[in-house]
Amino acid sequence: MSVAEEFHRLYGYAPEGVWAAPGRVNLIGEYTDFNDGLVMPLALPHTAVAAVSRRADGRLRVHSADTGQGVVQLDTGTLEPRADTGWAAYPAGVLWALREAGHAVAGADIHLASTVPTGAGLSSSAALEVVTALALNDLYGLGLSAPELAVLGQRAENAFVGVPCGVMDQMASACCTEGHALYLDTRDLSTRQVPFDLDARGLRLLVVDTRVKHALGDGAYAERRAGCEAGARALGVRTLREVEYAQLPDALRRLGDETVRSYVRHVVSDNHRVERTIALLDAGDVRAVGPVLSQGHASLRDDLRVSCPELDLVVSAATGAGALGARMTGGGFGGSAVVLVDADMADTVTKAVTEAFAAAGFTAPRVFPAVPSAGARRVG
Ligand code: ADP
Ligand code: MG
Repeated sequence: MSVAEEFHRLYGYAPEGVWAAPGRVNLIGEYTDFNDGLVMPLALPHTAVAAVSRRADGRLRVHSADTGQGVVQLDTGTLEPRADTGWAAYPAGVLWALREAGHAVAGADIHLASTVPTGAGLSSSAALEVVTALALNDLYGLGLSAPELAVLGQRAENAFVGVPCGVMDQMASACCTEGHALYLDTRDLSTRQVPFDLDARGLRLLVVDTRVKHALGDGAYAERRAGCEAGARALGVRTLREVEYAQLPDALRRLGDETVRSYVRHVVSDNHRVERTIALLDAGDVRAVGPVLSQGHASLRDDLRVSCPELDLVVSAATGAGALGARMTGGGFGGSAVVLVDADMADTVTKAVTEAFAAAGFTAPRVFPAVPSAGARRVG
């Protein structure tokens, strides 16, 4: 049954429209987006699809095909940040953020289904937020731009759900275009669509979902964030973005705390790796991006310390089997990695990673190609 048909079955009438918003993988630039830094995600073909109608009576009803739960009904006038509404906090948080920003959004009926794996570091949460934001924007004629919707989605996740994420995931879901990676400067939200045609180069970007999520991740993210802020304070800058790569050795000498120093080294060098990647893509030298990815992984593993044995094994097994480069992507402590390979090596590398996981006694990973896909749009 389609999402629209399922909406009809649930609520007894046809939806006003259907919208889709994708998950993403980040090619390079990790833990930089809360430091005003640079990132380069691309949208996946996997999407959250939502059938939505307006309601004039101040009610919000939400249902997901993926949770096994019934319809959640909320009163939009009494939405409370961090109230225990489970998964419904994502769409409810978007409606709350729109109202907080002064937009007259009375209510809605929503039914959604998603093909974005949850908790795999592929931003199923941002897909949910952005699809809700775009649907309400269209239905209520709010006239907000894609970046504005992304920022509202981030606000929903930060203030309403209570997850202190940066803005990359929502920007990727809202703004990516087919066949491109999104070069995003999170300092001013300026973007550039960078052609990323791997097929034409005989290359493939594989996503390896390790299917593990270590509990350590939640506190670690906040701790890294605090460490980066401490680094910026110690260096007398507003954010680490203001530290130029050429000034990094000098900056590191001025930092007394060993942990803060290693976090600063990661963030400043990863911004540089994004700039290096874009220069290589502009020059048409996509193969040379491989080693940059692997350097990024080493930095996340050794300096930021957000990797884990499963992610490290993806990278070592893949590069050992002939991949051009690989790195963890997203928040780490499990989730997914990206691997750049020659297309004719994709099967060999996939097999090597799968066998290494079996030999280590890990759950079999899920491997699929990252096809740079469209951002959020109306589909029905
Ligand atoms: P990620 O964004 O990396 O997938 P998060 O922990 O940020 O991981 O978000 C996952 C959460 O988003 C889920 O636990 C659930 O609350 C919500 N979510 C994502 N997709 C769906 C869905 N299809 N239906 C209901 N809730 C979903
Ligand atoms: Mg998320």
